[in-house]
Amino acid sequence: MNNFQLLIGGRLEDGSGSMDVVNPATEKPFAAAPVASEDQIDRAIAAARNAFDAWRETPFAERRDTLSRVIDAIASDRDELARLLTLEQGKPLSAAMGEVDTTLEYMRYFAGLDIPVEVIAEDADRKVEIHRVALGPVAAIVPWNYPLLLMAFKLPPALLAGNTVVLKPAPTTPLSALRFGALVADIVPPGVINVIAGGDEVGPRLTSDPRIAKISFTGSTATGHLIMASAASNLTRITLELGGNDPALILPDSDLEKVMPMIFAFAFGNSGQVCRAIKRVYVPRPMMDKAGAILSSLCGKAMVGDGMGPDIQFGPVQNAQQYQRVLRLFEAGASQGCVLPGGGPVKGAGYFFRPTVIAGVPNDNPLVLEEQFGPVIPLVAYDDMEEAIQLANSGSFGLAASVWGNDSTETRRIAGRLDAGTVWINKHGDRLPNLPIAGAKHSGIGVELGQLGLLEYTQIKVINQAI
Ligand code: NAD
Repeated sequence: MNNFQLLIGGRLEDGSGSMDVVNPATEKPFAAAPVASEDQIDRAIAAARNAFDAWRETPFAERRDTLSRVIDAIASDRDELARLLTLEQGKPLSAAMGEVDTTLEYMRYFAGLDIPVEVIAEDADRKVEIHRVALGPVAAIVPWNYPLLLMAFKLPPALLAGNTVVLKPAPTTPLSALRFGALVADIVPPGVINVIAGGDEVGPRLTSDPRIAKISFTGSTATGHLIMASAASNLTRITLELGGNDPALILPDSDLEKVMPMIFAFAFGNSGQVCRAIKRVYVPRPMMDKAGAILSSLCGKAMVGDGMGPDIQFGPVQNAQQYQRVLRLFEAGASQGCVLPGGGPVKGAGYFFRPTVIAGVPNDNPLVLEEQFGPVIPLVAYDDMEEAIQLANSGSFGLAASVWGNDSTETRRIAGRLDAGTVWINKHGDRLPNLPIAGAKHSGIGVELGQLGLLEYTQIKVINQAI
């Protein structure tokens, strides 16, 4: 097994201590990760700060070349990165391979972008241009559901724009990020990428440091509040990609045989641990039984188990704390709804929960109102369309939503009424690297991905020249 180390100022070094990394399929530690000391966090920030001046002056084409070599390094290590992802995160090995491949796809997309200078006015008196310049050291903080892919939303645009980075993975999934650090240590100039790990104390240390010019955070809304407060003292720029509670609205003319398998796929992929997964389903009351029966049958057939096993479709919930959360919301839902056959917690070692549907849950139940971020979803009955729209818009989240029906005028009308950063029609979760993600309401601030996601790592600078 690897000796995992921090990357600070171009050097790989041990932590001041270490922490166990637990395989969620067995509940047993399988590796040790370094824990960064105060001094190491400080040196990582200092290294990013010191590297910034030279990196921002490095020609764009050279930064792009460096990014391309980073991409090649990941590609050459695909199998090992995927294996680590399965062991630390729990997802099936085929899905872990998919995560590495999508990471590469997104990084390659960014490597193809440019940051053009915009000419705003050019006349006899003046020439005015908008330049987009780098900010400084970026703290990139990622959660545990897609440890590698979510890094790829942040590092490539940050680096391409001329910033340096301190990357901090989640405490329960640090290994793929540390492995990434080891892969790039000799590729990027010292200090341009730093990778530090540790417990939840590392994040606040980064976000409160005045040398950090920007915080790019993906994680829960609760942590987003803390980060915004922490950023306030230094007016640090922020991009927050936060929690979601995506509703799926099934319209009365939907073909349930066709639609419900897709609802199942987009609710339970990655065992429900997807920011933009379907997390509550609104169904016309007369269609509840049939919708529930189709989902229940799919739940019963689902292959749940250790992601290293053959034919496994769904791995465990990623960590003990999250498992307890899913269990609490399952019990809340079960107290007011009907747990359909095929679902429920799995006894024995590992944080396993079968894909679970609870039908007839009232809209004010915690399973509907809160983000479960796990494989338990509520089916909520509605009686008229206006009520359904109100229910879908209830709560503080606004990451994404989907509308399912056959009348395109009606589905587009309803899409226009939903308070969400993305609304899909007759699909959910579809994404491309050039499609921006921006949460509405408490689901986020700022944009990731696409050209807009690249510009998030820049500052506008107007050059106004007399002619
Ligand atoms: P989390 O907020 O607990 O942790 C995310 C990261 O923040 C971790 O690295 C953690 O160590 C760090 N952190 C914790 N406290 C911090 C603090 N005070 N200051 C700075 N950093 C701190 O989230 P999680 O449980 O790891 O991830 C699940 C959440 O992430 C869900 O709510 C999910 O919806 C959200 N998520 C959102 C998106 C999106 O694009 N909107 C994508 C994936 C996940």
